[in-house]
Amino acid sequence: MSFAKLKAARQDKPSYVTSNALPSQESSAVPSEGAKESLYKSIPDHLQIRTSAVSGRGLWITKPCLPGQVLFAVKPHVAALSNERLALHCSQCFGGGGNAGLKRCTQCQLIYYCDSTCQNLDWTFHKNECIALQRVTASGETAIPSDAIRCLGRIMWKRQKQGPASPWTQEIDLLQSHKQEVQPSAYELHTHIAISLVRYLGLSSPSEIAAFGIASGADLADFVSRFVTNTFTITDPSLAPLGASVSPPVALINHSCDPNAVVVFPRSRPNNQEPLMQVVALREISANEEILTAYIDTTLPKAQRQTSLRETYLFSCACALCMSTQSDLRDSVWCPKACGGVCPAPTEGKFTRLPRSCTYPHNGTENSLSRCTQCLSALQKTDEVLDALRIGQQALDKASLLQSTDPAKSKQLCSKLIPILTSAGFTPSSHPLLALTRLYTALLIADLQSSSPSQETLDDAVVCATKAVAGLDGILRYGHPVRGIARAELGKLLAVDEPAPRPPAASAAEEALRYPPSGAKRLRMALDVLLQARGELGVGFGAPNEGGAVGRDVREDVVRLERELGVWQKGLSEAMRDANEAKTVQRS
Ligand SMILES: [Zn+2]
Ligand SMILES: [Zn+2]
Ligand SMILES: [Zn+2]
Ligand SMILES: [Zn+2]
Repeated sequence: MSFAKLKAARQDKPSYVTSNALPSQESSAVPSEGAKESLYKSIPDHLQIRTSAVSGRGLWITKPCLPGQVLFAVKPHVAALSNERLALHCSQCFGGGGNAGLKRCTQCQLIYYCDSTCQNLDWTFHKNECIALQRVTASGETAIPSDAIRCLGRIMWKRQKQGPASPWTQEIDLLQSHKQEVQPSAYELHTHIAISLVRYLGLSSPSEIAAFGIASGADLADFVSRFVTNTFTITDPSLAPLGASVSPPVALINHSCDPNAVVVFPRSRPNNQEPLMQVVALREISANEEILTAYIDTTLPKAQRQTSLRETYLFSCACALCMSTQSDLRDSVWCPKACGGVCPAPTEGKFTRLPRSCTYPHNGTENSLSRCTQCLSALQKTDEVLDALRIGQQALDKASLLQSTDPAKSKQLCSKLIPILTSAGFTPSSHPLLALTRLYTALLIADLQSSSPSQETLDDAVVCATKAVAGLDGILRYGHPVRGIARAELGKLLAVDEPAPRPPAASAAEEALRYPPSGAKRLRMALDVLLQARGELGVGFGAPNEGGAVGRDVREDVVRLERELGVWQKGLSEAMRDANEAKTVQRS
């Protein structure tokens, strides 16, 4: 497999933010259970809008379904590419992935399309947007408004055109409001967005917003706040973020940190139907069970999930995972006695730091130590773990920030911190070790694409990707799209032609211990991993979508590898036969 192929499969660091919809809570405008008759026509009959005392308004399924089943598929009401992606994708279908063959709008010169079909389909949205963007450019402002502002602009122009009574506008207006719960910091952000929006729309005063059916400045702030908490990130088939979108029917789905469904964009339809959001079952769901997706990255430990949900979505999560008293691999360190069990990772304040002079056994503070869940051994090196946790988190924040601007520095931070966290006892699934491992894998893959790679970099990337897969397996459900993509990445890395395959080790025992292996053994491993990836992608991206674009790509790799291994096998048996024949000739 070529590096170009690998590059094509890997555009960006995979991110997994799917649904940003609000959790249901009482709102002034709750659609009744019968509302679906006139609104939400895109929701199929086997799903119902219901209200429960626990989670409020949500979507329930009326008949059982299997993992990989597409529960429903819908085009978002509005979508806008992020600024970095504007010149790389079509603004209508979000296809493209590199601007080869894309055509630029000759008026604003900022928006691109596949062809005139995509351009015509987008015209209801782009007509006014084009003028607004030309106004921005003419004003000498260098910064193009963010995807959030452009998305809001699209909503405003469309609601003006459709009128307040149209189902489209009504569904947008029924997005849930949380104005009572908005934190001062969030309020500031919403005000800032509202001001930028007014300017982008070309209004000279906020009162002119009445022309868009919004009565006052306060209503506009509320509108912006509802937009922010109901936005979905559109991702490409390898889960890299592309832009923002709003879909009122999908926004009805409530959150769980261990969701039974995911929202994905497998890109399996013709361009005029894309970007199509597909809600896919991750496990068997029984009749009359609620459909739940995750609004946040569920590889994070509970404390971080709760903070993120409170700050952005204004609620405290009480899902089964958050309420569980069992230890969670997301914040665990290996048992100090290496019994195979784990200890909950200590947190500042929760487990007492022992004085540095302390040696076990220690009276008094001993009971507050973290203990192995299997053999009950106490974790002695609380200080070391806490220090590693603190510097690990700092390094992760910095490395994530520098990922695109200074990848070398970012890589350096990862390579320094991964061994520190590992030696402090963190499990591969724990935070921030897993996040650093995934980031490091992404950076190594980027290296492989940009330069002619050394065997060492390639092997490092394989080792790192293997750890990422192991870490994700510990905490995410089989078939989760993040797991599928990580496996596909590992399989592809293993299948890359080795620049300098290692000679076999001196002994078979030594050879067996080597990772990654070289030659045919490596190719067989690549095939195994790609077959597993195909299975998982077939669930997470929906069975009818065959794993989405990445799944289809993996299928092709599998066929190629099977052929290559077949040739290898044939070559080997021919060589054996020749050798045998030679021996026979010698003997005779
Ligand atoms: Zn297009
Ligand atoms: Zn234009
Ligand atoms: Zn939760
Ligand atoms: Zn133990």
